[in-house]
Amino acid sequence: HNHIDHATVEKVEAAIAAGDTHAHLPDYQTYDAYMADGGYVQLEALRDGGDWEAVQDKVLASGLRGLGGAGFPSGKKWGFVRGNPGPRYLAVNGDEGEPGTFKDRFYLERTPHLFLEGMLIAAWAVEAETCYIYMRDEYPAVLEILRREIKALEQAGVVAEGYIDLRRGAGAYICGEESAMIESIEGKRGMPRHRPPFVAQVGIFDRPTLVHNVETLLWVARVVREGPEVLNATEKNGRKGLRSYSVSGRVAKPGVYLLPAGSTIIDIIDAAGGMAEGHAFKAYQPGGPSSGLLPATINDVPLDFDTLQPLGTFIGSAAVVVLSDQDSARGAALNMLRFFEDESCGQCTPCRVGCQKAVKLMQADAWDQGLLTELCTAMADASICGLGQAAPNPIKLVMQHFKDEI
Ligand code: SF4
Repeated sequence: HNHIDHATVEKVEAAIAAGDTHAHLPDYQTYDAYMADGGYVQLEALRDGGDWEAVQDKVLASGLRGLGGAGFPSGKKWGFVRGNPGPRYLAVNGDEGEPGTFKDRFYLERTPHLFLEGMLIAAWAVEAETCYIYMRDEYPAVLEILRREIKALEQAGVVAEGYIDLRRGAGAYICGEESAMIESIEGKRGMPRHRPPFVAQVGIFDRPTLVHNVETLLWVARVVREGPEVLNATEKNGRKGLRSYSVSGRVAKPGVYLLPAGSTIIDIIDAAGGMAEGHAFKAYQPGGPSSGLLPATINDVPLDFDTLQPLGTFIGSAAVVVLSDQDSARGAALNMLRFFEDESCGQCTPCRVGCQKAVKLMQADAWDQGLLTELCTAMADASICGLGQAAPNPIKLVMQHFKDEI
């Protein structure tokens, strides 16, 4: 059901022709423009006798880590996948379902070929037989851009016809979880798998599979072309590298901001033009609803991988949502849990029932904190995947930092 079908393509094209602004194609860098800018030179050179381990070293030296949320060192993944016998596959996670995250869309609507070249370099490095792109269906312009540009690559002979298999997601948040995405690519209901085995060993159709996020691959292309310095030369507050923060909520200019990985929430709000008029900074979601909420008083921590762990949260996909004095922290947390209740795949009891119970308990005038704490422990300890394991974070952080509201 998630193949690009002709009816959908026609629908998108008709919408564009009718001037539908949602389906409007932005002015992106086409294949010709990318070629004129030195595009695919690196890929061709590597395919012509390049050393994959040298590329892996470059990527490792850059400090690039998975930008979908998990933050695993990108170069290391290549080694794991290569270490398993072929045939191997590459899957791109373009589902971008984490509320507040829109950085992949931002880049794909501007520089799709940077991503595509990065993907083909990674595919070359692990000798992938096919590249699957699992793309969020709610991004019609992105789907149209990719369809056109993949065709351009096929026509130019950069890839064989069918080598890049563009798939549509079907609106399920859980399909952004890599093993659920793989189930969905195989045509099954998107439910996370138990691990081990890891997808690097047993992935799509039980073959070793390299899974990368869209933005991660865009950086692979830039690191190969510009050197590891493009990332590791930036240093701030003891952190190296750059991060694309999707910033929304009560800021003057919501958008995607590429900032040093050592940026604090204050730096990020500043980049987004400060607080929206009439709003005072109260709280923020550092990295998607699974990361919960931090109070404005915690404002000197770099929002990077690992730095937030001692605070009971994480940077995830760097989806920063800023709340103001006009927002309720408990209301936001309830909204997050309602989302998880809706999006739980239902496979395991601690998550399926736990999210429902949590929503009920959070609707009470006064929270039963003892019971909620017990429930959070059961969910975090016994859920199969990250959804159920991290769903308690908003509850725990509100109990910790916004006691007066509950
Ligand atoms: Fe499904 Fe939730 Fe269990 Fe994950 S934790 S497998 S989403 S029921």
